Amino acid sequence: MDNRMFRTAMGKFATGVTVIVSEVEGQVHGMTANAFMSVSLDPKLVLISIDKKAKMNEVIEKSNQFTVNILSGDQKEMSMIFAGQIKEDKQVKFETVEGLPVIEDALVSLVCNVYQSHEAGDHTLYVGEVINLNLQDGEPLAFYEGKYMQMT
Ligand code: FAD
Repeated sequence: MDNRMFRTAMGKFATGVTVIVSEVEGQVHGMTANAFMSVSLDPKLVLISIDKKAKMNEVIEKSNQFTVNILSGDQKEMSMIFAGQIKEDKQVKFETVEGLPVIEDALVSLVCNVYQSHEAGDHTLYVGEVINLNLQDGEPLAFYEGKYMQMT
């Protein structure tokens, strides 16, 4: 199995799309991620997996907090901005929950304190304890075989 075959296989797993956001010294940093899962109900834990090369690592390590924003079907541009797929600088307005920045009009925004972190190969797994959330109705943005999709 080479890397390409592994990536192709993993791309067969259809996911939603999130933007992870954190803030340090007044600087808000966001990053698109689909490696996200719910882990535990008591306590309420979620997991994200961040490439060690991503700038997001140092931001989370300093702030010890992050938000997970599950994007709606009409927020593809938001995903592209925070994945570096749109090159020009775009101004993004954030809302605040529990003092942390969240993406406006996301389907769900989870506010998390870092509960644990684990090194896993070339990624770091962050387990977040959810301390508050925002929830809205709507359809999610989906990602499958490297392409964005809408559910309807
Ligand atoms: P950068 O590359 O510096 O930032 C990301 C982009 O966000 C830049 O274009 C930057 O200008 C913009 N940005 C950041 N903050 C702001 C702000 N405040 N206002 C406006 N723009 C801002 N990688 C993983 O490690 N784990 C995953 O689970 C994962 N899933 C992905 C899922 C999808 C669908 C896609 C498309 C990519 C995924 N990636 C994932 C890749 C990851 O999103 C990119 O590698 C990303 O560029 C890494 O971000 P960074 O922290 O290194 O910061």
